[in-house]
Amino acid sequence: MTNTFLKQFEVWFITGSQHLYGPEVLIKVAEHSQEIVEAFNDFSSIPVTVVFKPVVKTPEEIYKVCIEANSKVNCIGLITWMHTFSPAKMWIGGLKVLKKPILHLHTQYNRDIPWSEIDMDFMNLNQSAHGDREYGFMLSRMRIERKVVVGHWQDTEVQERVGDWSRVASAWLDAQGAKFARLGDNMREVAVTEGDKVEAQLKFGWSVNGYAIGDVVKYTDAVTASQIDRLVAEYEDVYSMDDACRKGGARHNSLREAAKIEVGLRTFLLEGGFKGFTDTFENLRGLVQLPGIAVQRLMNDGYGFGAEGDWKMAAMLRAMKVMASGLPGGNSFMEDYTYHLDPSGMLVLGSHMLEICESIAEGKPSLEVHPLGIGGKADPVRLCFNVAAGPAINVSVLDMGNRFRILVNEVEAVRPLHDLPKLPVARVLWDAKPNLKTAAAAWIYAGGAHHTCYSQNITSEHVMDFAEMAGVEFMIIDKDTKINEFKNQLRWNDLYYTMIKF
Ligand code: MN
Repeated sequence: MTNTFLKQFEVWFITGSQHLYGPEVLIKVAEHSQEIVEAFNDFSSIPVTVVFKPVVKTPEEIYKVCIEANSKVNCIGLITWMHTFSPAKMWIGGLKVLKKPILHLHTQYNRDIPWSEIDMDFMNLNQSAHGDREYGFMLSRMRIERKVVVGHWQDTEVQERVGDWSRVASAWLDAQGAKFARLGDNMREVAVTEGDKVEAQLKFGWSVNGYAIGDVVKYTDAVTASQIDRLVAEYEDVYSMDDACRKGGARHNSLREAAKIEVGLRTFLLEGGFKGFTDTFENLRGLVQLPGIAVQRLMNDGYGFGAEGDWKMAAMLRAMKVMASGLPGGNSFMEDYTYHLDPSGMLVLGSHMLEICESIAEGKPSLEVHPLGIGGKADPVRLCFNVAAGPAINVSVLDMGNRFRILVNEVEAVRPLHDLPKLPVARVLWDAKPNLKTAAAAWIYAGGAHHTCYSQNITSEHVMDFAEMAGVEFMIIDKDTKINEFKNQLRWNDLYYTMIKF
């Protein structure tokens, strides 16, 4: 997904003040705010559209702009800033009804104190240092989650943090009412991929409904020979493959079957207005192969996906793909598959039976056809590749019974130590932070799933902001994680989420 996708989203820039200082000060406040908004729209690190709203000075104006933000469908949230003092009881009515995320920008128009010029007029105009504290108190008093970003508005780091938050708020809006198709049910007897879909819709906005694979077969049956010809030609053009897969080769028919599945599945998703889907190898009656390359390419186009009925991963992956729009690197469904337990450097090999998104591929993927050990279907077509070294995260969403938990592990992907000539799937190796022993223990104590969303361009902070917008638990395993402290956090959170009614 590209940056253009995010430009459709608006964030409203709301400046708080009051009538106490007279009209001249208010004119200045508005001018400064407009200047900041114009600059924000020019910064490439802020990918959404920033919209200036008139300075709010009364409870009525604040209430009105909050109601308007709620009802503006492409408004992802508010950036709020108190240029002057803006007594916070005025904000109660508006904040009580506001349904959109808030970024509290704690900035100041001037960067430096004008030492030789400063007088009481300047002090009256530029008092966000205390105006923002008064406003912040009310948000804390009302237990409203928000992002606080501190620093001068021309500071690159401030712009980047505003931009990062706006990516998350875009993903949050995209999630509201987002439809996910669950093709078949859950892999039989598997626990962690299950969950409360009603609660997920209440908390995250995800609308997950089940469909039979026959609903897709109706579309694959309707695919024409010329549609298949076109897509197979694209496969031959874009990916490397051996002659057996090419036209006239012994395996070429598998490609035609895979292309038919891709066209049918794509049309099903498009016509249904879905943003993601799941399947499972146990519910495939009517499909000749387990969808491999089709899933890999659909993920690359922005669809969320989870295997074995894992709709929580499908929905989270979609959110991460929206956040990552236009950024270099990719996001994929992933699974902790097997370990390298060499004491001199322990690694995880992540992969799946087939379904790793080509957005994380290093170099040109190789299209291959191999038998699949389970499922009893024809040999599926898949893209095989390695993944570039570099920082990444693994994200898991869990239903803990009384709440959702989002769990993140920061990792460092490394190049494979050796070739893997017999492994017929896409794969990535990573060094988990702080080290495999601690990371895996913490992950298991937290109930983390074997399925994750793997990201090269989304950070833990993005995911934390998303969890806070949803009002769900967030836990991180990173370079600072210590098992004892981590276990205590889990215990405290159990208590917190039992006591607090959300
Ligand atoms: Mn799996």
